Amino acid sequence: MLELLGTFLKEKLWRGGDAGSGCYACGRCCEAFGGILHASERDLKRWQESGRKDLLAYVGETGWLWLDPESKERLHRCPFLQRSDDERVLCAIHETKPDICRAYPSEAVGRQCVSGVYFPVSFWKKNRSGLN
Ligand code: SF4
Ligand code: SF4
Repeated sequence: MLELLGTFLKEKLWRGGDAGSGCYACGRCCEAFGGILHASERDLKRWQESGRKDLLAYVGETGWLWLDPESKERLHRCPFLQRSDDERVLCAIHETKPDICRAYPSEAVGRQCVSGVYFPVSFWKKNRSGLN
């Protein structure tokens, strides 16, 4: 069944967006998962070395993203998500966004987006070679 669905996506839905990733910047993944992310060691090192205290202020003691810098309460939504005029979504910290966002925010819950449809990461890795 999943094989058939994969073939259907390749032939009918693939939109070939950003760098052939199939992302068309709807922002649903950031809205759904942007509040349950975790910073990697590399993220913390990069932000420390580049003096991004503004970002580190949003990181919890155990690396959770994102906390309100004042109250230290967990935010339910990523504070760096921005909507453009054409309703596409932009990441305000794209150049240094967390590693999990470079993969895809949905990978925090083991899902990979294919043109707005979420699949288990294992399914994506098995089928991705034929999708680009
Ligand atoms: S939900 Fe999918 S298509 Fe939309 S922004 Fe996220 S990765 Fe891109
Ligand atoms: S940091 Fe950027 S990519 Fe990550 S959840 Fe926020 S807006 Fe999305």
